[in-house]
Amino acid sequence: MKKLVYQFHEGRKEMKLLLGGKGANLSEMTNIGLPVPPGFIISTDACKLYNEQSSRLSNELFTEVLTHMTQLEKKTGKQFGSAKNPLLVSVRSGAPISMPGMMDTILNLGLNDRAVQGLIQLTNDARSSLDSYRRFIQMFGDVVFGIPSQLFEDTLSLIKKKKGYLLDTELTPEDLENLILHYQSIYLKETRRSFPQEPKQQLKLAIQAVFDSWMNPRAVIYRRLHEINSNFGTAVNIQAMVFGNTGKTSGTGIAFTRNPSTGEKAIFGEFLWNAQGEDVVSGIRTPEKIDKLKEQMPNVYKKLISTCEQLENHYNDMQDIEFTIEKGNLFILQTRNGKRTAKAAIQIATDLVHEGKISKDEAIMRIKPKELNQLLHPTFDPEALANGKVIASGLPASPGARSGKIYFEASQAVTRAEHGTKVILVRNETSPEDIEGMAKSEAILTAHGGMTSHAAVVARGMGKCCVAGCSEIIIDEAAKEMITANGLKLHEGDVISLDGTTGKVYLDEIKQTKAEISAAFHQLMEWGNQRKKLNIYVNADTPNDLDTALHFGAEGVGLCRTEHMFFHEDRLPYVRQMIMATSTTNRKKALAHLKSMQKEDFSQLFRIASGRPITIRLLDPPLHEFLPKDPKDIANLAKEMGLTTLEINAHLNGLTEVNPMLGHRGCRLAITYPEIYMMQTEAIIESAIAVSSESFPVQPEIMIPLIATKKELSLITADIQETAKNRLERTSITIPFKIGTMIETPRACITADKIATEAQFFSFGTNDLTQLTFGFSRDDASKFLPDYEQKEIFVNDPFTTIDQEGVGGLIEMAIIKGKITNPKLKMGICGEHGGDPASIHFFHKLGLHYVSCSPYRVPIARLAAAQAALMDQTQTTLQES
Ligand code: PEP
Ligand code: MG
Repeated sequence: MKKLVYQFHEGRKEMKLLLGGKGANLSEMTNIGLPVPPGFIISTDACKLYNEQSSRLSNELFTEVLTHMTQLEKKTGKQFGSAKNPLLVSVRSGAPISMPGMMDTILNLGLNDRAVQGLIQLTNDARSSLDSYRRFIQMFGDVVFGIPSQLFEDTLSLIKKKKGYLLDTELTPEDLENLILHYQSIYLKETRRSFPQEPKQQLKLAIQAVFDSWMNPRAVIYRRLHEINSNFGTAVNIQAMVFGNTGKTSGTGIAFTRNPSTGEKAIFGEFLWNAQGEDVVSGIRTPEKIDKLKEQMPNVYKKLISTCEQLENHYNDMQDIEFTIEKGNLFILQTRNGKRTAKAAIQIATDLVHEGKISKDEAIMRIKPKELNQLLHPTFDPEALANGKVIASGLPASPGARSGKIYFEASQAVTRAEHGTKVILVRNETSPEDIEGMAKSEAILTAHGGMTSHAAVVARGMGKCCVAGCSEIIIDEAAKEMITANGLKLHEGDVISLDGTTGKVYLDEIKQTKAEISAAFHQLMEWGNQRKKLNIYVNADTPNDLDTALHFGAEGVGLCRTEHMFFHEDRLPYVRQMIMATSTTNRKKALAHLKSMQKEDFSQLFRIASGRPITIRLLDPPLHEFLPKDPKDIANLAKEMGLTTLEINAHLNGLTEVNPMLGHRGCRLAITYPEIYMMQTEAIIESAIAVSSESFPVQPEIMIPLIATKKELSLITADIQETAKNRLERTSITIPFKIGTMIETPRACITADKIATEAQFFSFGTNDLTQLTFGFSRDDASKFLPDYEQKEIFVNDPFTTIDQEGVGGLIEMAIIKGKITNPKLKMGICGEHGGDPASIHFFHKLGLHYVSCSPYRVPIARLAAAQAALMDQTQTTLQES
């Protein structure tokens, strides 16, 4: 039979996949001579077998376990179930990738009515021994049979109340004996069997329960959230118990080799005298700072500190160490790479480089790009958050943590915000008309829409916290109220908090912690820059966005959505006049007003970009998005244009489309109204000339959206060329501009070789390309995508992480075809996937020149691009060797 059980001395730290993280590290520590209580590990292979055998523990496996138990008895000189010298063990889960608190653990296994007497003799402490026994019954009942802990807690409270005690520690040995009888009867009532007195039976049931806990709902959700392979399985660690609750020279605690919040290089930890590990975790007693140990047991303290140093040097990373002191003897129960905040992660990684312990490349690889969100945006204070009341949950559309009063109309949000109120804009979905309300609000909550819906895209662009697609709430915008799934009704002005990183919505205000960017962050980013191959551009259309992005290291603008410039209050009237114009002459008049405004916009961007390329996309959305819906606004427009409301309404009806996303938008607008793109081209070239004459270098790249055919592109490109030529002929200044196209329709991918003959660059618009490849509406797919993820049709939302097989296949085809006819073609991507680390790895492999993303994702993209390059390098080296 295949070996399924390993003694600690048989393992190594590299064997995590087989022995789980905890087991592999216990093995390693045993082998480097640290004081680890003896034990053995049932491997993850055994867990896989258990799952294959319909959750049945085979006799062969259990026999192997019992052989190891006999060896453990020999090593410890104790006996399982003995009334004199009982061997007690802990039975702990241990997955290959740490999943803290997600799976089950049982301590003090082996206790029964007889063995507890042995424990009393051993510890000379009846109170704590009996307390261990009653806790064991509760833990075993809960973990193995799912008996609600509350039943045990209620009984405990009842006895305490009867006796007039406040604290558990006031219970006398007699009280505890009585409590144990009560606990055993709860057990009998709930399971219809007596509490098992046979330690081997306890062990078998406990092992099964730990294996089963691999599939418990919280573990399944945790794996999904952290993208952990569900086939790994858990190992089971069986280890002799040591007792921190055996008097004044005993205790238990946790030590981090560096501060896990700040990264500071100093031992950070806490411990409790005369206690077991769960007392520290449960928070029943307040632990002491580790320094106290120095005062009272200097030798043990010294040994602990040198063990911490030894472990950190051995693992070359900050360690989280569990220890127990039994009658003055130090035991190490666990070590693992400590969980840490993003700030600490960066500080520790860069410090380790400076200390000569790891390379710069290793430091780059140690940071998870998405964690940078924690640094770039404020987050909720963890303690305050733990007490927060979750009232709903939606899509984590744009990170950040914000509290504010809810308002249901963008105009209300603007007014309130201008009066100093912190506002959260709550809408069923946002539209471009809401832009100012969004800009003035602290955060945005929508009931509908996915990760690339208007609210999500715009919020990310603004660096604003947003929870989108929160379908659990019903929003009545007219009545100005929202109702949660639990029937909680909130009205205008009520306070909520949004966590844009988790998608959770909380009631009331929650304390926040500020975003902080350290010198270590800039250092790490700099190291990353030396490795990455992809350029990182930004999607920005305001000077503010561009400023932020350049500060974060953006190398150009990959997408300036000019329509966002059209939504300003002072421009909308001209946009509307342009749309409603009944003759070309009138349209040109309105366009002339817009042109002077656009010129100013572009000039500002060119100056800030100082010679970096700016890709300006010509008008893209369907025109009706700019038109009023409110009767009051319609009447105003009629007045401005000297028309009747009837005429305006007739025009509005004419522009209404059943399927606007597939309608009259993108380059199709320019096919009907060439003068719109001509005006925009004039504004671009004229502002480029003006800024260039101020001695700022400029690099405009004019981009045409939604192209499906070569002919569309050649017609529009000819107009742009002609217009630009016209403007440039009037000056001696040369502007090195490019004309290119977005590739966002499947047809454009398939015919990319033809389209490339008319374009100087391709920018993949993966939002529309995903929408059109799947035929999923990017605004409504959030209604059914969770079912797709749950049924594992997708691992990820394809609007967030690129679908490599389908959409990615089209992109690859377009790159290959495009290069055949135009080898000089510059190629990048500007859809939302440009800020997603997994997608960035894919784009790196495709050899794109750049990815473009919203300003606050620029650092994430820089780091992900560096990691992609480093991983590529490792793979190449492996292939070569
Ligand atoms: C896209 O479709 O990927 C894109 C960047 O354009 P937009 O999101 O503005 O449609
Ligand atoms: Mg698009």
